[in-house]
Amino acid sequence: MAVPQNKISKSRTGQRRSHDFLVAANPNECANCGELKRPHHVCPSCGFYAAKEVVAMATEVDLDEEAA
Ligand SMILES: [Zn+2]
Repeated sequence: MAVPQNKISKSRTGQRRSHDFLVAANPNECANCGELKRPHHVCPSCGFYAAKEVVAMATEVDLDEEAA
């Protein structure tokens, strides 16, 4: 069985685990709709970026009407 050659000290373990925590998201408010969004990303609720519409949002599709 493989055995570690040296003891890993509590200090060494702590140094390794100091990078293991999760960082909370830092959302910004959308300038157009006020919804919270990720910074430097297109707003997922209105499709705006830097006060311009860059992604056209799909309007609600009535499936019954589409099929007819
Ligand atoms: Zn928005």
